[in-house]
Amino acid sequence: MTRTEAPRFALVRLALAALAVVGPSTNVAVAQKAPPTTQSAPLTNLRYEITFDSTTAETRTLKVAMNFDVAGPGPVLLSFPAWTPGAYELTWFARWVANFTPTAGDRSLAWDKLDYDTWRIQPAGAKSISVRFDYLADTLDNAMAWSRPNFAFFNGTNVLPYPEGRSLDFPATVTIRTDPSWLVATGMQSVPQQAGTYREGNYHDLVDKPFFVGRMDYDSMQVAGAWTRLATFPAGVLTGQARAKMWDDIGKVIPVESAVFQETPWPHYTVMMLFDSSFGGLSALEHTNSHLGIYNPQAIGSPILTSVTAHEIFHAWNVKRLRPADMVPYRYDRSEPTVWLWVSEGITDYYADLALLRGGVITADQFLGQTADKIAKVAAAPPTALEDASLSTWIHPTDGTEYLYYPKGSLAGFMLDVLIRDASDNRQSLDGVMRTLYRSTWKAGHGFTGAEWWRAVTAAAGGKSFTEFAARYVDGREPYPWSQILPLAGLRMATDTFMEPRIGLASALDSSGKVIVRQVMPGSAGEEAGVRSGDILLALGDIAVTDADFGPKFRARFGKEDGQPLPIQVERGGQRLTLNGKIRLVPRLQSRLEIDPAASAKANRVREGIFKGTTGP
Ligand SMILES: [Zn+2]
Repeated sequence: MTRTEAPRFALVRLALAALAVVGPSTNVAVAQKAPPTTQSAPLTNLRYEITFDSTTAETRTLKVAMNFDVAGPGPVLLSFPAWTPGAYELTWFARWVANFTPTAGDRSLAWDKLDYDTWRIQPAGAKSISVRFDYLADTLDNAMAWSRPNFAFFNGTNVLPYPEGRSLDFPATVTIRTDPSWLVATGMQSVPQQAGTYREGNYHDLVDKPFFVGRMDYDSMQVAGAWTRLATFPAGVLTGQARAKMWDDIGKVIPVESAVFQETPWPHYTVMMLFDSSFGGLSALEHTNSHLGIYNPQAIGSPILTSVTAHEIFHAWNVKRLRPADMVPYRYDRSEPTVWLWVSEGITDYYADLALLRGGVITADQFLGQTADKIAKVAAAPPTALEDASLSTWIHPTDGTEYLYYPKGSLAGFMLDVLIRDASDNRQSLDGVMRTLYRSTWKAGHGFTGAEWWRAVTAAAGGKSFTEFAARYVDGREPYPWSQILPLAGLRMATDTFMEPRIGLASALDSSGKVIVRQVMPGSAGEEAGVRSGDILLALGDIAVTDADFGPKFRARFGKEDGQPLPIQVERGGQRLTLNGKIRLVPRLQSRLEIDPAASAKANRVREGIFKGTTGP
C-alpha cells in the first residue's frame, strides 16, 4: 500500500509552525530570526484540576486548572491532542478551549499561540505556573466531552494539555472537584487518603482513562478475579432485571476473553455506559481498563449491547496492548495510519462474536447468523482491500466502505482461524496466534509488524505459507473463497427464499431531507405505477416517507397484500400527484450458514474448536 498521509500531514504542521513565528509582523528582522523552538521548557510536578458542578454545568463548562513547576529556560509550550486513540479521526480538542489564562502567583504571564493547538507562555522567571481555561463540554461523542445539568463525561485528551516536544513519560495527578453528592467513575488510579485525586505514571495512561462525573448508577462485582465496575447514566435507566442481565453477560464474556490470552491484565475494569435517545445506534471507545459507550436506550436488553461491550473489553488486549507498530507509541499531534486496523478492529469483532458464543450469551445458530450477515454486508460493498480500508478510516470514505474493516476483518480472522485449525488438525488456532503476539510484542514493549503477524500465523499453521492469502484477501480485493473455507469447518451456505413486497425504486435522501427517486427498476411495481426518476417520494399507501428508512416499514406493512392497490404520493415539478400502483410480492434470496451433517470428523473438530475456544483432537 502507499501510505502518504502521515508524511504529508507532518509537512503541513511544520509549515504552520513556521508561519506562526513570522506572525502578524512581517519585517525582515523578524523573518531572519532563528527558527522557533518547538520544545517546551521542561516541566515537573504536573497537577491538573477539573471542576464540574451544578454551577459550571449551567454553561456546559469544565473549569480546568493545570499547575506545574518550570525546570529549565525558555517558553512553556502547551499542546492539546488532535485525536483520542481508538477514534481514528483528527478532531483538534483545542477548538473547545476558552479563557486561557496563565499566572504566576497573582501575576499574569504573557502568552501567544505557536500554532493552532499550541499555547506559548513566557514564564519571565516564574518557577511555578498555574494555567486556567474553560472547556466546552457539549459534544455527544465518546472521544470528546459532553454535559447535562447533573452529569458530564470527558476524556483526558480533551482537557489535559502536554508540554510540546518533551517526553510523555511524566507522572501527574488529576483532581476532580464536584458537588458533594455527585459520583466519579474512571479507570484512573485513585491516590490513597486524597479523595477525588487520581494519579498516573505517564501521559499515555493519563489520557486513556475517561471520567463520568455526576449523578449515575454505579456498582461493582468481582469478575475473573478483578473488580469490575458498571457506571451508567442517566440514573435509573439501566436498573433491575436489565442491569442484572448486563452484569450476567459481563460475567460470561470476560472469562472467555481472558482465556484467549490466559490472563486478565487489569487490577480493575470500568464499564461506562451513557444512554441518550438523541443518539442513533451504538458507539463505544476502548481503553486499557475501561470503555465508554454511548447508546440509544432502545439497545437495552438487546444482544447487540452485549456484543459492543464484548468488543470493547476485548480491545483491552487487542489494540490497547497488542498493537500495530505504526501506533506505538501513540502520538497526539497527528494521525497514525496503519494497514493493520483490520486486525485491531475486525479480529476484535470476530472475538466479540466468539465471546458471546463461548460464554453462552448467544447460540451457535445466532453466531452463524451474525457471520452470514457479515458475509452479506461485505458482498454488498464495493470490492475493497482490507489494507486500504484500514488506512482510509482517517478520512471517512463516503462510498460505503468507511467501516468495512470491521466485518471484512472479522471474516478474515474467521478464515485464518479455520485455515490454522485445518492445517494443524485443530491443535493450533487464531487464539494461539493472538496470545503468541501478545507475549512476543506487547510484553516485550513494542508493537507488532506485518512480518511478525504472518510469521506467527504461519508457525501456527505448521509452516503453511500465507503469502498468496495476504496478496488476494488482505492487500487484494478478491472475494473470499467461502466454497473452499466453509467445508473445512463442516459448514455450508444455504439459501432461503422469502416473498416480500418490493416497489423497485432506488432513492436517496437529499440535503433538504426529501427522499428523491434516483432510479426506477424496469418492470417493477414502481414503473408500472408511473413513478419517474426525480420524483420526491411522499407516501406509499399509509406509510409516510419521511426518511431514508421507510423500506422496512413498507415491507412489514404490506407483506401479505399481494395484488392490492397501492396509492403512491409523489411531488413532481412542484405538484402533488397520487399514482395508482399495486403491491407486488417478489422472491428474495437470503444466504445463511449451517452445519453440514455430512462433514468429516476433522471438520467437526475444527468447528467445535472455534465454537468452544479449545484445541486438541
Ligand atoms: Zn473497536
